Formats: sequence, structure tokens, C-alpha cells
Amino acid sequence: MGVVSCMAGLVEGKRALVLGVASERSIAWAIAQRLAQEGATLALTYQNERLERNVRSLAERLPGTWLLPCDVSDDEQISRLSQELQSRWERLDILVHSVAFAKKEELSGRYVDTSREGFRLAMDVSVFSLVALCKALEPMMGAGSSVLTLTYLGSERVVPNYNVMGVAKAALEASVRYLSNDLGPQGIRVNAISAGPVNTLAARAIAGFTTMLQRVREVAPLRRNTEAEEVADAALFLLSDLARGVTGEVLYVDSGYHILGMV
Ligand code: NAP
Repeated sequence: MGVVSCMAGLVEGKRALVLGVASERSIAWAIAQRLAQEGATLALTYQNERLERNVRSLAERLPGTWLLPCDVSDDEQISRLSQELQSRWERLDILVHSVAFAKKEELSGRYVDTSREGFRLAMDVSVFSLVALCKALEPMMGAGSSVLTLTYLGSERVVPNYNVMGVAKAALEASVRYLSNDLGPQGIRVNAISAGPVNTLAARAIAGFTTMLQRVREVAPLRRNTEAEEVADAALFLLSDLARGVTGEVLYVDSGYHILGMV
């Protein structure tokens, strides 16, 4: 196998699509900035016109970044996104899926009270979207392309209030394994990062989120919270050729919290 060059940026010349920038605190924004620093050309998406201005002002900080609309719950918009990308880029090297949604009322109380519509919505936006994006963008990807999604420990342990999103993350992690097996023969890798709690817009929808942050600071091996920049550095590894032998993996970036028992 070839040796990864240290002369240029780690993702120099690669083309990256990043979904999930909503604010300056978004994990996707930290990843986008890190990829740009290491030489990638970026396209960012925004969900709707309400958020376009915010995402546009962030995108302007990374010269040459392309901005496109995409509500991932709409097949038509995914198909348009794929056509737009294919009209301008001959190849997609990096796909970052940093998108999740559940109704606020589903993120408190008991999981058993989850509504059918709340379950469907969380699964559709947070899980199926990755499958649909991989399918739509597969024609542009090939040997060396890398896909990354974001997950959380609530997929495998019961975390109070995380509820339907934990079940969605379990399905997302299983999807990472199935997708990596489907796309591996073409040289496309698919991985996830399981991030510790980070204070973002999505996280604030979870009841008791500040208590989660505090608990991690108290007991995690590193005794501190996860920063979006730490997630971005690990993302850079998984998205670059340094991780060319890694696929179907969930990498924890959580100050070591997930190794603990009796917490
Ligand atoms: P965030 O900044 O709020 O990002 C979530 C993104 O999902 C937003 O850009 C949001 O757009 C987007 N989204 C929701 N519904 C969408 C739709 N239908 N179409 C397109 N985009 C949609 O929060 P974040 O914490 O960075 O979340 C990013 C990812 O990291 C999520 O998968 C989350 O579960 C995961 N994660 C977060 C933490 C944490 O503690 N923050 C920990 C582990 C994993 P709108 O704002 O327009 O809805």
C-alpha cells in the first residue's frame, strides 16, 4: 500500500460534502473547518430558507465553499443535490452526515410513550437519510471515498431522556455496518464517530442535557467534556487516507466515558 504523504494537507484536493451545519457550535461546522484547513474543497447544505442565512455566513468564512439546499427527509431534494454535485464535481471523496432530529416531546420522559409518528420521523431523518444519501451519491464515489456519520452512546446503553434517538442511533450504527459491506467492494469506506455530549442546538433539545455534561466531567477518564474540535480531528483521520484500512467502525470520542461501568 502507498504511504500517505505528509507534504500537503491530509485531504488536499479532496471534495467533501458536509450536511448538518446549523450554527457555529455544530459538530459539522468543526469538521468542515478542519477539512478546509487540510486542503479539501467543500460543499455545505442547509435544511431550509430559515437557516440559509446563518449557514451562508459561516460558509463565507471558508472561501470557495459551495452552498446547497437539502432537507434530507425529501427524496426529491436528495436527488437534486446529487445532480447538482455531479454537474460540477466529477467525483466525491468525502461525505459527512451530521444530521439527526426527534421531536422535543420524544426526548423526555419514558421511551414507552414514543408516538408512531415520532418514531417514524426520528428514524427517517436520522437514519434513512444516510442510506438515501449513500445511494444517491454512490455513482460519484469510488476507491478512496469515505463516509462518516455521528452517533451517541444512547444507542447501546439506556441514557435517560435520549429515548427514540437512542433507538435511531442503534439503527444508524447497524446501517454503517451494512453500508460498509455494500460499498466496500468499490473501495468506499463508511464509519461513525460516537461523540460525548457537546453543547449544540440539537443537544439542547434533550431534557437534562446539562446534567449529562456535568456527569461526564465528573467521571469520564479524562474528566472533561468533549469538544467539537476533538470530534473534528478524529473525523479528519477517518475521512483521510490515514484510515484507509478502517470501515464499518464506530470510534468513540467521548473522554473515555463509554468504558465505565457502575456510573
Ligand atoms: P446541530 O448543530 O443542531 O446539528 C444537527 C443538524 O441536523 C442541523 O444542521 C439540523 O438542521 C440538521 N437536520 C435536522 N433535520 C434535518 C433535515 N430534515 N434535513 C436536513 N438537515 C436536518 O447539532 P449537533 O450536535 O452538531 O448534531 C450533529 C450530529 O451529531 C447529530 O447526528 C447528533 O445526533 C450527533 N451527536 C451529537 C452529540 C451532541 O452531544 N451534540 C453527541 C453525539 C452525537 P436544522 O437546524 O435545520 O434542523
